[in-house]
Amino acid sequence: MELLKVPKDLWNDYNWQIRNRIKTLEELQRYVKLLPEEIEGIRRTQGLYPMAITPYYLSLMDPEDPEDPIRLQAIPRVVEVDEKVQREGEPDALREEGDIPGLTHRYPDRVLMTVTTFCAVYCRHCMRKRIFSEGERARTKEEIDRMISYIREHEEIRDVLISGGEPLSLGNDRIEYILRELRKIRHVEIIRFGTRLPVLAPQRFFDEGLLDTLEKYSPVWINTHFNHPKEVTELSAEAVDRLLRRGIPVNNQTVLLKGVNDEPETMLELMRSLLRIKVKPQYLFHCDPIKGAIHFRTSVDKGIEIMRYLRGRISGMGIPTYAVDLPGGKGKVPLLPNYVLERKGNRFVFESFSGEAVEYTIDEV
Ligand SMILES: *Cc1c(COP(=O)(O)O)cnc(C)c1O
Repeated sequence: MELLKVPKDLWNDYNWQIRNRIKTLEELQRYVKLLPEEIEGIRRTQGLYPMAITPYYLSLMDPEDPEDPIRLQAIPRVVEVDEKVQREGEPDALREEGDIPGLTHRYPDRVLMTVTTFCAVYCRHCMRKRIFSEGERARTKEEIDRMISYIREHEEIRDVLISGGEPLSLGNDRIEYILRELRKIRHVEIIRFGTRLPVLAPQRFFDEGLLDTLEKYSPVWINTHFNHPKEVTELSAEAVDRLLRRGIPVNNQTVLLKGVNDEPETMLELMRSLLRIKVKPQYLFHCDPIKGAIHFRTSVDKGIEIMRYLRGRISGMGIPTYAVDLPGGKGKVPLLPNYVLERKGNRFVFESFSGEAVEYTIDEV
């Protein structure tokens, strides 16, 4: 791709990547021969579900392949505004919006803060697609302070998950402010960032100032979002490595997406690629019924089939928890293949990883 002729110092500059995001049909057509459903998709999602793609993320795409997994995640298609996809999805299926703007307090010990609507790339499957049309806006200092006051007043909160949009798109000073204020609260033990920048613009982590800040307020964890083995590149590996060297663990949350990663072999390769760069696969989420994104949903049987396939083919460390989010904001539920074929009292018949039925009586001493 012509994009690749950019000098290396620019290519490795996060701000250059953000400034040069591809946001219009005309620009994108310079690099990719678009399908009619993409051309119409970009036109008809304007203002509702806008497009933005970093040159880096675009460079991972095979422009010859209409079903390329990067392409499916980044380029709008007309199906997003299809009548059924609009009607059957909900803007806020997980009921995140509450009394305090940007704050969701669902589990007693954990709270979710969304600090900006800005993202490096607007993923077509985003669970917060409802915020795309709000424009790119970071929360004001007053809004952040209000969230932090709430956390200060609720002593049961031990874990703060900072998300967005893209929380690490904020300037280092603003990130430092949030971390400093949270660390003043004695009951806050864990701080996590939900960030997709290791995948979309890993150059963000080449900024020593950011790494200094994240390290300073330890323990800070990163939850990222790799969905396909093609996203595990040299640059993303370098970003992860820099975080790990500063003592910042990196866990991954994948979303099961039709056409992107719903082949068992693809998912296995993704999990193997993540372990190679020392990222722990934490969750595999079933795709939520989000307005404008339900065309990415698979059956639950597909997810179970994938989980069954993983077991025995990869280290246990590489097996995520498959989970569905319950409607009405009732929280996450883990799902497993059924490995108990029969049970009478303490006598079980288990199914082994290789599919063998094994009888086992387990008595308490
Ligand atoms: C997923 C989620 C969390 C974090 O859950 P973990 O299982 O600890 O990762 C916290 N708050 C909300 C609202 C969530 O949706």
